[in-house]
Amino acid sequence: MKKRVSLVAPFYNESGNVLEFFRRVAVVADSLPQYAFEVIAVNDGSRDATWNELLEARSRHPWVHLVDLSRNFGKEAALTAGLDRARGDAVVPIDSDLQHPPELLGEMLAQWEQGAEVVLGRRTDRDTDGRLQKISATSFYRFHNMISNVKVPMDVGDFRLMDRRVVQALRLLPENHRFMKGLFAWVGFRTVTIPYTIAKRHAGKSNFNGWKLWNLALEGITSFSTAPLKIWTYVGLGVSALALLYAAVIVLRTVVQGIDVPGYASLMVSGMFLGGVQLIGIGVLGEYVGRIYHEVKRRPVYLVREEHEFERAVLHPVRQERELERA
Ligand code: UDP
Ligand code: MG
Repeated sequence: MKKRVSLVAPFYNESGNVLEFFRRVAVVADSLPQYAFEVIAVNDGSRDATWNELLEARSRHPWVHLVDLSRNFGKEAALTAGLDRARGDAVVPIDSDLQHPPELLGEMLAQWEQGAEVVLGRRTDRDTDGRLQKISATSFYRFHNMISNVKVPMDVGDFRLMDRRVVQALRLLPENHRFMKGLFAWVGFRTVTIPYTIAKRHAGKSNFNGWKLWNLALEGITSFSTAPLKIWTYVGLGVSALALLYAAVIVLRTVVQGIDVPGYASLMVSGMFLGGVQLIGIGVLGEYVGRIYHEVKRRPVYLVREEHEFERAVLHPVRQERELERA
């Protein structure tokens, strides 16, 4: 029996990339005939022609499993839907915009055969990102890793090969809020990193703007650390100590120099400063309480409208296509 390799690809408004994606994957699959490849393509509520193109791709490639989510649930949910269905011995989440070169699969599989349970693709440069994006990404990872026990490796995205054991471990994690990078890191396992050059998007444009990335960063931090909650105890202690000291100074000054009425300005400033500090503290609390609120509702991570499983057991994709053509 050939080992099975499942690719999990989320598609959100990727019309224009669909056919090229499957073409590239088919070429790679053809060059690795010792494996049986399959692709689980998750349509994450696209508003363009993506779904129709996916249906067309599946009519050509019998090794494609299609899942249509009922609306846009976000990349993390789409990946979860794909991982839930991946039955391969090795599973590889991959972006459908061709930024993650499928050609890296050969090297990933070689590392896996040598005993790695996770093969991480580490991007060697971030040339496709703007300068601001680079700086904010780096500082996010620094900050995240400083305050949480789970260390997320830098310059590593969702592009990775995972042994089926790792995928099974991921399925055990019950949270609804799924910061995949953190979850991947949390499960652990024997990990090898290989470098790759991230490509430009084949067509279309990125769905992640500054606000979405900021929220993803908040998600990452609140999912894996309670440090932002605990820090307020120490901020409070520090401020109280300062206040006590200041009180002592006022008492001393009054005793030594006589009655002293401090100015309106200093009262105003300290009042506003402390008000601000308290509001920040409440805001941080709110971030966590909001997440608890969403989490306890136990809503499903995604809903499926339509699903088309593989046409038949996966053989070697290209050979199978030729058989189909002949039939
Ligand atoms: N994606 C998705 N749902 C979303 C946003 C993105 O499934 O709500 C998919 C998208 O189709 C692509 C991948 O996630 O395959 C990465 O998205 P994108 O290229 O927009 O992000 P970037 O590469 O800029 O981080
Ligand atoms: Mg992209």
